[in-house]
Amino acid sequence: MLKFELHGNDGRARAGELTVNGNTARTPLFMPVATRGVVRTLLSQDLKKLGVNAIITNAYHLLMRPGVDIVDELGGLHKFMKWDGIIFTDSGGFQMIRKGFEQRLTDNMVRFKSHIDGSVFEMSPRQNIELQMRLGTDAAMCLDFCPPHNADRDTLDASVQKTTLWAKECRQMEGNIFGISQGGIDPYLRARSCAEIAEIDFQGYALGGLSIGEPAADMYRMLDIAHDIYPLRAPRYLMGLGSPVEILESIDRGMDMFDSAYPTRNARHGTVFTEIGPLDIRKARYRRNGSPLDETCSCPICQTYTRAYVNHLCRANELSWMYMATIHNLHFIISLFARAREEILNGNFYEFKRTFTEKYG
Ligand SMILES: [Zn+2]
Repeated sequence: MLKFELHGNDGRARAGELTVNGNTARTPLFMPVATRGVVRTLLSQDLKKLGVNAIITNAYHLLMRPGVDIVDELGGLHKFMKWDGIIFTDSGGFQMIRKGFEQRLTDNMVRFKSHIDGSVFEMSPRQNIELQMRLGTDAAMCLDFCPPHNADRDTLDASVQKTTLWAKECRQMEGNIFGISQGGIDPYLRARSCAEIAEIDFQGYALGGLSIGEPAADMYRMLDIAHDIYPLRAPRYLMGLGSPVEILESIDRGMDMFDSAYPTRNARHGTVFTEIGPLDIRKARYRRNGSPLDETCSCPICQTYTRAYVNHLCRANELSWMYMATIHNLHFIISLFARAREEILNGNFYEFKRTFTEKYG
């Protein structure tokens, strides 16, 4: 069961509530990425404490390791990773079809090689949904065809065709399923893809193939197009976008859901978010800095530790610094979403977006 309720809006920005299999998450919603069944460096209980309500994991990676049978045998993903919040799964289509992995692609079958032992798998779009369901997902994403951002128009056209064809097949399965549009940044193809996916009628609607290297302005144009075509009653999910300013711009264009490895990956590379923009905590200039990572942050790391200490752990190759930076960055993003929701309901979202963006730079 999936239910989406709108609580209010400010312009096109929406505040709502998503209920999936008895679990509730407020929107706009950020889902940390747990590709292999874990948000890297964190425990499931850390996510709970951070106020995370939903995560997204990846069917391809879990199929490769530990394998669906093992996850299934141990009671499904929720039990396996001790996470009682909402779990979305990505089809893993991006990984299966990615250059180098691809063996063969037909209208109704993807054949691909394991990146671990080279063994060959073959799967139809329906079997892909079945795989996500067997993992114990709360909501599955359709298998789609994501071309590179610089693909020519013929490739984009073919990807839209295939994505629609596969979406129709995926829809024949039971359960909560989100459709995904493709079409790159071609206005006509994106509009066609959104319309074809909307026509099939899913519980939620995603935009794929964006935030993969195209200019932000082009991506925003695609969001405007999707906003006009996707039904208002359903959640809209922009896949793969994680930078704070772009998130606010996308919320302003009617997007409800996001997922990205951006905050966690950045943390592991030393980039921590602050209200006046990101900083690199590995730099020598923080060796004697007694301030928290971000002066205004209420996360447990900023409440306890200094920049100098995190910088020292990092230089000494003590792994805890990655945990600390990840906790902080996720807290920053989760708080940004909570604040955005509040400002939408207060009718003050635009002003909030403007002041945040001005400060963050
Ligand atoms: Zn913090």
